[in-house]
Parts: sequence; C-alpha cells; structure tokens
Amino acid sequence: MSNVRVRFAPSPTGFVHVGSLRTALYNYLFARHHGGKFVLRVEDTDRARYTEGAVENLLETLEWSGLSYDEGPENDGDFSPYYQSQRLNIYHEYIEKLISNNFAYPCFCSKERLEKMREEQIGKKLTPKYDGHCRYISGDELIKRRKSEDHVIRLKIPPEGITKVSDIIRGEVQFQNEMIDDQVLLKSDGFPTYHLANVVDDHLMGITHVIRGEEWLISTPKHIILYEYFGWPIPRFAHLPLLLNPDRSKLSKRQGDVAVEDYRKKGYLPEALLNFVALLGWNRGDDEEIFSLEELIADFSLERVNKSGAVFNIEKLNWMNGIYIRKLPEEKYLLIALETMKNNGIDAGNTRKNEQIALAVRNNIETFNDIKERSELFLGDGPLHYSENALEWIKPDSSKKVFTSMLTEIEKIPEITLEAFKSVMGNVQKETGLKGKEIWMPVRSALTGLTEGPELPQVIQIFGKDKILRLLEQAIRV
Ligand code: GLU
Repeated sequence: MSNVRVRFAPSPTGFVHVGSLRTALYNYLFARHHGGKFVLRVEDTDRARYTEGAVENLLETLEWSGLSYDEGPENDGDFSPYYQSQRLNIYHEYIEKLISNNFAYPCFCSKERLEKMREEQIGKKLTPKYDGHCRYISGDELIKRRKSEDHVIRLKIPPEGITKVSDIIRGEVQFQNEMIDDQVLLKSDGFPTYHLANVVDDHLMGITHVIRGEEWLISTPKHIILYEYFGWPIPRFAHLPLLLNPDRSKLSKRQGDVAVEDYRKKGYLPEALLNFVALLGWNRGDDEEIFSLEELIADFSLERVNKSGAVFNIEKLNWMNGIYIRKLPEEKYLLIALETMKNNGIDAGNTRKNEQIALAVRNNIETFNDIKERSELFLGDGPLHYSENALEWIKPDSSKKVFTSMLTEIEKIPEITLEAFKSVMGNVQKETGLKGKEIWMPVRSALTGLTEGPELPQVIQIFGKDKILRLLEQAIRV
C-alpha cells in the first residue's frame, strides 16, 4: 500500500490508558509496515477536561514507549505534534461552509430545555436525541439570533436512510440515520467538538486509515455523513477490540492498573509492555508470543486483528517482562536495577555488592520492583524464615550431616571464594557419601530458606563466610 498515513489522536486527560498505547502501537506498526507516515495529533479542544500537565505526561509516556511520530508543525528545525487548540480558525472556516450549505445549523436551546427533553424521552423509553427544535430557523431571525444569543452548531443528520461504515476488522456495519443524533459540532465557547475537529483534521492531514478503539465506532456514521457533506474521500476505518478484565468486564481501574505510567513506575520495560499490548487483539497466526518491535513491524496486519474483546492478563505481562529483563545487556540491566535499589533504599554497603545482588536475583524477578523482596535474603542478618518445602529438605538426618560437614569444612578456610566453595562441596560429598539433589537442595534450603531462587555460587559469594556459618548453625538446630 503506498502513501499510508495514519494518526494517533489522544485527548490529554492526565494519564495514558494501556488501550491508548495499543492504539498508538497499531497505528505505528501499520505505518512502518507500509513505509507510511505516523502522525501525532493532540485532541485538546475539550476545555472542561483540561488538566494541568496532561500534555507533558502524554508526550513523556510516548517517548518512553519509543513510538516516534513523523511530522508536525516545525519550530527551530524540530517539529512538535499537531495541537487542535492551535487550529481553531480552521474549524470555524469549515463550520461556516457546512452552515451555508444547510448541512449544519445553529441551536439556541437552553440547557434546561435540553435536560427536560432528555428526561421526557428517557421516561418514554426512547433513546435521548435532539428533537430538531432549531433545525428550521432561517432568514433574518437566524442572522439576528446568531449575533445576540449563545448557541451551538449542530450537524443536520439526514432524517431517513442508512449510513454504512465499512470497517477492516468488522466488515460492514449499518446505522439507521433516524437513530443518529444531530451532533453538536461547535460549542458555545467557540471550541469544536471531537467530531468536527477530528474529521476536518483527518482530511486535511491526508489520513488514509483511521485505526482507533471500538468505543468510537458509534461515532463513525456521524463522521461519514460529515465527509459526505464536505465532499471528501472517506478514509478506511479499523476499530480495535475492547480491552477486558479477566472476568470479561470492561478493563477498569478497579481490577488493576490501566495507566501506562503505573507500569512504568512499577519497573516494567517498554519493550515488554509493547510486546504485551501488541497481542491484545492481534496474533501472527501461530503461537509465537515474543516479538521485537522490528518483528512486529514486519508481521503486523489489520486483517489479523480480532473483533472480540481482548483480556488483559497481568500474569502474562509479568512473565513477558521477566523475559525482557533477562534479554537486556548486563550493563543496562545493572543500571536500572541499581537505580531501583537506590529508590527503594536497598543498599548492601558498596556498589560491587549491590551489583552482585542485582545479578543474583535477575533470573527470579518479573519486574524491577521484585528486586526489593528478592534482595531481602542478602541483606537481613536475623534468623532466616524457611518455606514449607525448604523445611522438608532441612529436617532429614542426612541433611544435618551435610550441614555439619560443610560447617567444619568452611571453618577451615580463610575466605569463601568460588574455588574454595567448590572444594568444600567436593569434600562434603566425599564425607557424607551423598550427591546431587541430596546435597544441593538441603544447602539451598538452609542458605536461602527457599527451594528455588538464585544460583548458589552467586549466593555464597555475596553472603561471605560468617553469614554462611550462621545459617548452617540455624539449620542444624531445626
Ligand atoms: N481524541 C480521541 C481519543 O481520545 C480520538 C479518537 C480517534 O482516534 O478518532 O481517543
């Protein structure tokens, strides 16, 4: 496909929803796959929803995710996203065109009247919808009232017929025009609503494919009517499936984090989060689950996006994040791990030791914040708490023999090095006649209190002689 142009058009509301990240990602992948352009347009015309810092947060989150956009108004050799609040003149120009062609009309109805009408309609079990009260005001009256009265501008929906939305993911979806509301396009404060600004901009920015969440499907017939009124070509639409909680209700804050920032703060890696959201509604047609951004670009297609809702499974995200943590180059891993430790007040006294701890726990964490819990083992100097399974390995007489023999051997050496530890364990093996699991599981249990976890050679180097002796004594007494 040539000349693909797509856009991510978020309204800055204070945080970036994981569903928005998926929308941004799918647009980005589609653009990159087709060698097209990915435009970022900040839809900030709803003054009532304005929150301080929301735009900065949006841009920062996008930057963290690595989804870079391709164009925007230039300043100082750089370019910024498009901001709808800076394009008000454009919307006014187009609204006048609609009015003069009789495709839109001023509405002077008061809030009270609209509220009363709504209540009556709900009382009669009708879908609330503007009753067309101001549709036919014309001539001098119209001119006079427009000058003197507060008003909005509404879209004149054809009273009959059907509007068809052709959707790449859903096929053809039909809407009865009589069910569609005469949408407000321009508010009394002079700001356009989403519908007007979105359509005008998609056209002026040459958008070829509108890829967005399913919640916008219901607005699409209004948009199509607008395109037709303007005489503009209609872009292709693709409405992405809803994100669901594991109980299949709509993904909500009540059941877990929905803001990208929360995942960022909790130490998730952007690569992992992107890989995870990529699979919320898309698959390659096989069971592969780990994709780099390059692989996603190569394999992504809208035809392979599902219609049905996608369940947000945090366990899967955690698993994936663990995989990405282990994929990081060691230096990068250490950089983030040490930063996390610092932020959580985890300090073994010197950088070398902190690094050793970070590396020892690497295989057993899913997020960087897990380091907090996993590193307790290395920092605590009180008695160790054993898991049930560990206790089972500590109690047998054969295990006690292992501990006693190890204790004697370690007391003989001046310092625990990797070499010394190997020879200690060789001697313990000879002395007890035990080997393999029979030795390693009791030792692991006695030293870490767990039957899984960091590699023992890493553990003993961090612990040092005194701590090992203390832990062996504790295990012997159990
Ligand atoms: N501003 C809308 C939003 O917040 C954009 C929807 C669309 O992509 O058309 O998601």
